Amino acid sequence: MRDELRKLPSVDRLLQEPAVHNLVQTYGHELTVEGLRHALDAARHQIRGGAPCPPIDEIAARAGAYLSVLARPTLRPVINASGVIIHTNLGRAPLSAETRAAMTAAAQGYTNLEYDLDAGRRGSRYVHAEQLLCRLTGAEAALVVNNNAGAVLLTLTALAHGQEVIISRSQLIEIGGGFRIPDVMRQSGARLVEVGTTNRTHLRDYRAAIGPETAALMRAHHSNFRLIGFTAEVPLNELVTLAREQGLLVFDDLGSGTLLDTAAFGLAHEPTIQESVAAGADVVSCSGDKLLGGPQAGIILGRAELIARLRQHPLTRALRVDKTTLAGLQATLLHYLKGEAVDKVPVWQMIAAPPDALKQRAERWAQELCQAGARATVTEGRSTVGGGSLPGETLPTWLVALEVDSPDALAARLRAGDPPVISRIENDRLCLDPRTVFKREEEVLLQAVQAALRSGQVTVT
Ligand SMILES: *Cc1c(COP(=O)(O)O)cnc(C)c1O
Repeated sequence: MRDELRKLPSVDRLLQEPAVHNLVQTYGHELTVEGLRHALDAARHQIRGGAPCPPIDEIAARAGAYLSVLARPTLRPVINASGVIIHTNLGRAPLSAETRAAMTAAAQGYTNLEYDLDAGRRGSRYVHAEQLLCRLTGAEAALVVNNNAGAVLLTLTALAHGQEVIISRSQLIEIGGGFRIPDVMRQSGARLVEVGTTNRTHLRDYRAAIGPETAALMRAHHSNFRLIGFTAEVPLNELVTLAREQGLLVFDDLGSGTLLDTAAFGLAHEPTIQESVAAGADVVSCSGDKLLGGPQAGIILGRAELIARLRQHPLTRALRVDKTTLAGLQATLLHYLKGEAVDKVPVWQMIAAPPDALKQRAERWAQELCQAGARATVTEGRSTVGGGSLPGETLPTWLVALEVDSPDALAARLRAGDPPVISRIENDRLCLDPRTVFKREEEVLLQAVQAALRSGQVTVT
């Protein structure tokens, strides 16, 4: 054992090795030395256990493996084969090529983010994207903040702090990630006044709750659940009429927010941003990365005088967006202005994907996987829009269904791969939905599935 231990090369000796040179190139000197020390420790441990001294290339390989894990970012691209288009856990909307290019251009150098090029002096970051937003929605003014949760918090804080805001009991929603209307309201310093019942709220309920402390009536989009059966809610335009009569404001939290009519794609009608603005809501807010299909952002639209008050509020500074977000949002909005959103914005491309084309892709995948020995069939299924929009609404799709002993184990292997693949399990089969997989990802996906099927205990039944 002593002899074997003595055979172990020194760190300096290892640094002469060509394989280790490559590690130094990739990870730098210091980190490589750490990797080599780790590999030598492991070898020493093995020798003490009775093993012979490992060859040098094995030590180098072990150092390489250690370094690749150490240097691997925790945030990584994944392939979304789940069929959920706006998947909050998977980072919501993928961005268009033009959006990505605009974000890269803004990131790689300087921008006029807060610089007025005409005047040659300090400008405001909040002018960017505003004109586009106003043009597309009909709003007088717009403000972009970090996300819609921030938009709602800012609106309530700046315009209703210390006053009352009336909202229907059916709209006291919780969306994922801990956003709950009553909690946001409390945080803003506005007092929540809930009216109506869980299933039915009438205009007279709002009217009866209005008092000297009332600042606003609020509507929140249900987003992730559906109210069906014996139900009633008050349309936005009726809330607006009542508010005008009483000198109050109306806030509309649209959640997803869409500029296109989802009904044109065989889905239920999701309220559009234009409709809320046209109905006369004083402030409308929505997310940038749900159905809008852009980068994460909170979009606030409304009357110029109110938006000006929001802009001046100290909280706005804490919620401010960066240059890449504004650049990306502008590029995404431009797709809508040019009437090319369905062709260019990935979220809409996926929503609009014709079932026949999805079937063809699924068939090709299944064929290739069968040739590799898998038991794969093509079956009808449903894709989900997700992202707190159109709850319960699905789109017809074609799935590749894999029959294996343990779909859960296969799903875990797919998640552990590089890149990780997110699938879903239906009727005890592991399913892959082409709708949310980009064409450029197909070959990598099929290889990942084959590797996951081959490796380990997962056997084809
Ligand atoms: C999604 C959603 C939010 C939060 O938006 P983020 O952009 O995730 O912060 C707020 N309200 C409603 C109704 C939503 O659907």
